Amino acid sequence: MAKSPYSWLEKALATIHHANWYRSVKTIKGRPGAVINLEGRKVINFASNDYLGLAGDKRLIQAAIEATQDYGTGSTGSRLLSGHRELHQQLERAIAQLKQTEAALVFSSGYLANIGTIAALVGSRDLILGDVYNHSSLKAGGKLSGATLINYNHCDLNDLRHKLTIKRSLYRRCLITTDSVFSMDGDLCPLSELSAIAQEFECMLLIDEAHATGVLGKTGAGCVEHFNLTGAELIQVGTLSKALGSLGGYVAGSANLIDFLRNRAPSWIYTTGLSPADTAAALAAIAIVKQEPERRETLISHRQYLQRHLPQADLFSSESPIICLGLASPQAALERSHTLQEAGIFAPAIRPPTVPTSRIRFSLMATHQPEHLQKLVEVWN
Ligand SMILES: *Cc1c(COP(=O)(O)O)cnc(C)c1O
Repeated sequence: MAKSPYSWLEKALATIHHANWYRSVKTIKGRPGAVINLEGRKVINFASNDYLGLAGDKRLIQAAIEATQDYGTGSTGSRLLSGHRELHQQLERAIAQLKQTEAALVFSSGYLANIGTIAALVGSRDLILGDVYNHSSLKAGGKLSGATLINYNHCDLNDLRHKLTIKRSLYRRCLITTDSVFSMDGDLCPLSELSAIAQEFECMLLIDEAHATGVLGKTGAGCVEHFNLTGAELIQVGTLSKALGSLGGYVAGSANLIDFLRNRAPSWIYTTGLSPADTAAALAAIAIVKQEPERRETLISHRQYLQRHLPQADLFSSESPIICLGLASPQAALERSHTLQEAGIFAPAIRPPTVPTSRIRFSLMATHQPEHLQKLVEVWN
């Protein structure tokens, strides 16, 4: 009898287990928040991207309920066919206003925003230079585009400049891509320098603000605002699913950029428009980002508290609400995460192949109470 064409799956899974790379889902009950019910147990949540604590906020829930009642559950088609609603336009205006760009376009996820935008902007005659620690969606977009993909060392401007000097003239267009807050390390990209290099070598610059939108900058506009680059011609991508507590992604930039993407980004054209509930929840979140700057201030003071009380200096690489503690092996990271969970602290072990080195990753929330942070310090030390 012929061998099953699927038998390799069992072997592949065994290899994943053997390396301690195996992952599985964990069930959380009830609403998201600073304290959650994880597998039947109350734990303090340091594992969420809900930095401002909005995913369980009554106002977002109410907005989603009302939008569902008014517009139904699904948007029923591509935005270019039957899927466009007034709500989408309102959300796109609100994003453009927050980012102070001419226009914005909402995608069904941040992942789709990145792959669609990159694939639309560059092709086989072009070059992409990406930070080696970039998010999976930036890398996937690069592959999909058919452009030549070169990584530069993490936040290494000399390496970037060196590679541009050798390669730039061999290609038509060039796109530099970077996370603004690196999702698995929490450090910030050197945006001012990247912007200057992009100009010098006539490159477009795409910055992924997934972990910075709503969190960094005086008004919560992100890293671009944090580095005083508001108004610079950039391609700003981000998500509605982290600090904005909803689901979906966006691109913000010039009116020409957005107009072009509406005509050329396959992951926008050939997918269903964002649901009314998700759209309305994100819109409500942006209003709160504006009206309640104290949430961002709380995040800053939370980080400062941990900085004072957890003496491991290498923990804090930046101003972001992501804090990592390195561990020697995937096994050690898993064990530490397990011990923390036993003590009532939920913080995931992040392991290869997601990152090159294993670590525990803590995400802060504006809705963490002082006693939540005290508990973390107590359990860790
Ligand atoms: C989460 C994330 C995304 C993807 O956003 P989704 O809306 O969850 O698809 C893209 N880029 C970065 C840097 C992220 O952290």
